[in-house]
Amino acid sequence: TPVDVDMVLDGLNRVQREAVTSEAEVLQILAPPGSGKTRTLTSRVAWLLANGMNPSNIIVATFTNKASKEMKERISKMIGGGLEHRLIIGTFHSIATRYLRKYGHLIGLPSGFGIADTSDSATIISRIIKKNKYSTMDGNDAGNVKSRISNLKSKMQSVDEYIASQKKSSHNDEFAKIYSQYEKDLKSSNLLDFDDLLLRCLDLLRAHPLCVSNIETVLIDEFQDTNLVQFDLMCLFASRRNKITIVGDPDQSIYGFRAAEIGNLNTMRDVYPHTIVINLEENYRSSAAILTCSLEVIEQDKSRPQKGITPTHEVGISPVLRQLPSADAEARWIAQEVLRLRAVTGNLFSFDDIAILVRSGGLAREIETQMTQKCIPYRLLAGIKFFERAEVKTVLDYLRVILDPNNNEALLRVLNTPRRGLGDKAFKELSAMAEKKETSIWNIVQKAARGDIKMGGISSPGIVGLSKFVKVIKDTQNALKSEESDDPQMVSKIIQSLLEKIDYKVFVAEKLQGEFDDRWQHVEEFITQAVEFCENLIAGIDEPDLPDTEAGGEPVEESVLAVALGKFLATAALASVKEGPEATGNGDGAGVLTISTIHNAKGLEWPIVFIPGCYTGSIPHSRSDDHDEERRLLYVAMTRAQALLYLSYPSELRDRKSGEMQDSNLCSFLAESKLKTLMTDRGPSITLESILSFSNIMSRACPTQETVQATINAAGLSMLDDWVESDDPTSKYGGYSKDPYEGGYGSQPQYGVK
Ligand code: ATP
Ligand code: MG
Repeated sequence: TPVDVDMVLDGLNRVQREAVTSEAEVLQILAPPGSGKTRTLTSRVAWLLANGMNPSNIIVATFTNKASKEMKERISKMIGGGLEHRLIIGTFHSIATRYLRKYGHLIGLPSGFGIADTSDSATIISRIIKKNKYSTMDGNDAGNVKSRISNLKSKMQSVDEYIASQKKSSHNDEFAKIYSQYEKDLKSSNLLDFDDLLLRCLDLLRAHPLCVSNIETVLIDEFQDTNLVQFDLMCLFASRRNKITIVGDPDQSIYGFRAAEIGNLNTMRDVYPHTIVINLEENYRSSAAILTCSLEVIEQDKSRPQKGITPTHEVGISPVLRQLPSADAEARWIAQEVLRLRAVTGNLFSFDDIAILVRSGGLAREIETQMTQKCIPYRLLAGIKFFERAEVKTVLDYLRVILDPNNNEALLRVLNTPRRGLGDKAFKELSAMAEKKETSIWNIVQKAARGDIKMGGISSPGIVGLSKFVKVIKDTQNALKSEESDDPQMVSKIIQSLLEKIDYKVFVAEKLQGEFDDRWQHVEEFITQAVEFCENLIAGIDEPDLPDTEAGGEPVEESVLAVALGKFLATAALASVKEGPEATGNGDGAGVLTISTIHNAKGLEWPIVFIPGCYTGSIPHSRSDDHDEERRLLYVAMTRAQALLYLSYPSELRDRKSGEMQDSNLCSFLAESKLKTLMTDRGPSITLESILSFSNIMSRACPTQETVQATINAAGLSMLDDWVESDDPTSKYGGYSKDPYEGGYGSQPQYGVK
């Protein structure tokens, strides 16, 4: 079908068009936040497709899976025709996983390898630490040890290389031992951790470049946060034609703590000397007031080159910088302000338009409480991830065992869940026996269940429990393998029947805390997601098979559903890295507010953004020694906002250890005197004029004065019970003269004042 090329270029400025249509082989589009980098990259993909490039010959790497989904949707809108489904698009991790599934056998990777998710890695490491009683670490160090290992892997340092590079010390020795045992444990469970996915893919492509012989071009978003491994992968992906487009912004590099390599930008120009650099200089996202404040923050970094950036929107409303008495008061203030803003703008904003961005997940608790109290629907992009919820995780682990019973980690977690009469001793004995016989725990479990080996540590009810367990696993495996249909609904039936056999409902009701209904709803939601995923996969909408290349692919012997389910599990494991599921709140058509960490908010934008917890210790974080990176983090957070930006901090904080209140200080990045003059500590006073300016920024129709009045009247004070009504006779719409804390908003709505 002929494609209207104009649709692709529509609405872009001159420089963006130049970038989209550029004939350059290697292109770097470097530009500040909100300048349309992602939009330009998306249009470039659409442009290539419109000009006849085969989508299965294009690799696009985005920072999150959500970003790839959005990109596909936009491409579909621009050119239609369903071509976007055939793109090789996703995060580096998911693209690497797809290559390993298809070609892993070429480098001796067992087919059906599993992905060690965050909890697998953590359990393996803390088990090693506990077992060996190391002198320099204990179980609490598991997280740190994992980050260290991960950092080394991201720099491509194997255990042996690590040992060679280190001075001898007991600390280093113990760490090296853990690192090496961790690798062994992963291997014996047939698991790859997140870093391995990239490393093994690198091995694969180095040894078998033909796997990517079809690739015409590679495009990458958020390039400033790629690490060394990803850089090499990029070069290998593109090795056939060496055509690469990257977009990025050094000022937004915030993953240095995870070994992201800002030097990649320069390295790329060294490796590809004919690289063309394009700068975009217009900001289309934020009001000029928000942009000015954000620049004021980033420009405190004197080592950074000056850049041009001009606003395209009017000044708008000054960002708010506000001190509240406590973290609790801060959360209450945010909740009230959210409701007030909606009311005084005639519901111009939906909850979807609002984000609360926190430095670390822990800060979200008080905010969640307030949102619940004020009936504000919200979703968490941080905090407990959907697939990590206990009730969901157990089902996931069962499925992982069913697809690969040699996965010791998943097996150990489900063996006695629900209880089957196995104690600590039983677990120790099973693991020790497996280690001794150099076989999987599953093999030992089967033998023990049959009574083929004597197990002193397992009671006879335990043995009965084990044999029931073995039967459930085998029955489900058979059901899945012998399933000839490719009806995704069968996946639901198979999972349901599994859960019945293990009495899962009873387990969730009796053993897991919290509301049963909520928990069970998550289980059902999980099954729905599995079915939908398999549906999309089978229909070729998601993750279509990589095209065959001269490297030859792995013949698939398993049933369609088993393959689909395997891919679903991989997606679930990868999803827990950086993002949660879609919203779960009840939106009532008004949408759901987002609570997210700043890291997770990268690349996104909202009309209204709150950044609470702007105190020293949170930003810059007490555990970070890279102040420049912390400043960039604040810059990333501030530049998510389109129309309204609120920064806040509590004047006192409760000390975690002593429980006593302590003074807290405004984050130093915000304490500069110039910034103070650009911000206000009052709630913004919303006038009809400002409503018009919000509408412009969000390209949305402006509500009429009547609508605004009606909403204010309807909201009344009942919804905003903590607010004090103004005595001011000029405040015609029942404005609120002060909040319960002090200061007041100073912001009576001013419609119709004239
Ligand atoms: P970040 O660095 O935060 O990822 P970005 O540079 O990728 O930002 P985009 O997300 O692509 O920026 O664009 C920011 C906003 O500006 C989007 O809403 C986008 O649709 C809009 N935009 C981009 N280019 C234009 C344009 N030429 N005209 C109007 N709006 C535009
Ligand atoms: Mg972007």
